[in-house]
Amino acid sequence: PIVVTGATGPLGRHIVVALIARGVSAANIVAVGRNADKLATLADAGVRTSVADYSDRTSLDAAFAGAGTLVLVSGSEVGQRVQQHTNAIDAAVAAGVSRIVYTSAPAATTSTLVLAPEHKATEEYLAQSGVTTTILRNSWYTENYAADVARSAESGVLLSSTGEGRVASASRADYADAVAAVLTSEGHENAVYELSGDVAWAYTDLAAAIAEITGKPVEWKNVSPEEHAAVLTGAGLDEGTAGFVVALDGNIRDGLLGVTTGDLSRLIGRPTTPLVEGLRAAIA
Ligand code: NDP
Repeated sequence: PIVVTGATGPLGRHIVVALIARGVSAANIVAVGRNADKLATLADAGVRTSVADYSDRTSLDAAFAGAGTLVLVSGSEVGQRVQQHTNAIDAAVAAGVSRIVYTSAPAATTSTLVLAPEHKATEEYLAQSGVTTTILRNSWYTENYAADVARSAESGVLLSSTGEGRVASASRADYADAVAAVLTSEGHENAVYELSGDVAWAYTDLAAAIAEITGKPVEWKNVSPEEHAAVLTGAGLDEGTAGFVVALDGNIRDGLLGVTTGDLSRLIGRPTTPLVEGLRAAIA
């Protein structure tokens, strides 16, 4: 079977759906997550489910027993993920999986992206595990901007400190379909793909997209990192979170999320979902 972790989150759920759409039998999929209630809705689709926590090796051993392939969706608990992913990789190797597909971050091993270090460590651990891998380095999800749609439509302003930086975002469903594509076609053993949207859009494009969707005028306002942090803490964010958001905007300003390789559309055999369409779906 193909075991998919993070299946209770939107990316993992899309991966399960995409695998079935590409002809994998639901009975040959095991959906793994911590939340039994959320898993139950996947069980309705005919897939097997198993509750496991990346921090609990015993639960991982039970969930991965008999697995042929592990799709390791990176966890969401930033700061704990190296240990958690290590646990999952160890459990997969112990279970005798023949392959691990891992969802990583753009240029994870060399990037200055603030989120890169945990992905770099995971990729390095995978490389020395001896198992066959496919690394899918996902750029930004278009869905990350869903909250900006309502916020910017209401205020008329899209605020960022991203400067002239561009974002080659794609929809989660696109990235998920790439997982299904590499598992249902030949030749992806030990490959590393840099997945991103076909179009690297500017923040003026994002403002225009939000205006098009909402029918309200939206103007992009670029501010300095210091001003941005002050606005965010003024709106109630704690210093740490504000600093993280500003650092990510700095990464975008530096162009780290604007790289278009075409890997994603090549793998899925169609163009990636355009920004406006992806945003519309995200807020639907
Ligand atoms: P979510 O945060 O919505 O879901 C995360 C998934 O990981 C959930 O299924 C969650 O399970 C599971 N998970 C988290 N911690 C653990 C744990 N300790 N043990 C077992 N399962 C765990 O993320 P998305 O679905 O949106 O995205 C998937 C991943 O992609 C994220 O986890 C993150 O690594 C990365 N990401 C990438 C972004 C991008 O723009 N490229 C943006 C945001 C995240 P549970 O339901 O039990 O919490």
